[in-house]
Amino acid sequence: MIWKNKTHELDQFAADLMSANPQLKYYIFGAGLMGRELLSVFMKYNCTVMFIDNSVDKQRDGIDGTEVITLTEYLLRRDGQIIIAASKANTVTIKQQLEDNLLKHGEDFFLYDEFVDFIFPIISVYGFNQSYVSLAQITLTERCTLKCKKCAHGCSYVDNASAIDMTLQQVYKSADSFFSKVDFVKEFVLIGGEPLLYRELEIVIEYIGRRYRERISLFVITTNGTIIPNKDILKACQKYNILFRISNYSYQVPRLKKTYQRLMDVLESYSISYVLSEEEHEWMDYGFEYVNRNESEDELVKVFDACKTPCREIRENRFYYCVMARSISDNLGFHVGQDDYLDMDRLNGTDYRKELLEFTLGYSDKGYLDMCRHCNGAEAKNYPIPAAEQVIRNDA
Ligand code: SF4
Ligand code: SF4
Repeated sequence: MIWKNKTHELDQFAADLMSANPQLKYYIFGAGLMGRELLSVFMKYNCTVMFIDNSVDKQRDGIDGTEVITLTEYLLRRDGQIIIAASKANTVTIKQQLEDNLLKHGEDFFLYDEFVDFIFPIISVYGFNQSYVSLAQITLTERCTLKCKKCAHGCSYVDNASAIDMTLQQVYKSADSFFSKVDFVKEFVLIGGEPLLYRELEIVIEYIGRRYRERISLFVITTNGTIIPNKDILKACQKYNILFRISNYSYQVPRLKKTYQRLMDVLESYSISYVLSEEEHEWMDYGFEYVNRNESEDELVKVFDACKTPCREIRENRFYYCVMARSISDNLGFHVGQDDYLDMDRLNGTDYRKELLEFTLGYSDKGYLDMCRHCNGAEAKNYPIPAAEQVIRNDA
């Protein structure tokens, strides 16, 4: 979207949103892991929040001190909006259940991703004067222990022997820039490449944890599970309650099953939380290496607007809308889109939170990224490819 009325683009939408739920009262439908994540965000903002869940046990015991009610009880009150916090399959069932009770999507209830990525950032700024980002990442290194042919960050093109990681000073600057303008982030992720290759990882965790942990709901390391962290890293992760998200590529690389088990055992011995993803069989092909759209700027804006990728990246003072666009451009040597970021150091106006909000939701002067010309965008789902297919066998 092209900025036409910077810092006022969302005024009307926000006003409608707030008037639909003036008490900012929320019901989370689904008292599982996603529901608890959302609960921790609402608690930070002192919102009134309850769960709806079909489980009789949860209705009896509550969750983390929060009341759990039935949908029937909610229907008698109807004094707040529902957010469905469930797996994809369960979301379909719950959505149908709500619609059968004449509740309207977008008015009475929201889906999880649309709420955390789009609705809540607006409520946070307009209702609480707090800037909120759903997901942001620091790419510590582009080096990786695997070489996935279609890595969406282009890390398989990186030479591990010669690639240069971010310096500690650059990482500090990235965190400081980000938190100088962002009051709260739902998920703050250290990624790569493989972030456990970063030599000073425990120092990074300590730096960010000590200064900013209170402003992060989920502090995450996303790993491919090939490396067992050393004791210093494990202690830092334990201290700052880091969650390990372990990508599961064992379908393509069966030997990884054993490594995942070893990693999970070690994390458990330190009481560190982790989530091992479902075995990944298929990825979408963004086509960065071969797509070259000969399209007008208007068409590129449409490509960008349809995409809605949630993955922001902070790299020193530069806040990138699309981590894939930045990393692919660098790692494949495209040198495209060097100016496609928001400069956090120059974001100093009185309405900077609204400018940041609009950028985070997809507004910019140009309305698209240069790399969108080389990307299948939302159409990528129509180009399935094998997940994590390796360029070469790797014994890491
Ligand atoms: S594990 Fe594969 S997809 Fe992940 S960063 Fe490494 S090369 Fe890329
Ligand atoms: S369409 Fe643009 S914003 Fe979306 S993934 Fe591709 S490069 Fe990133």
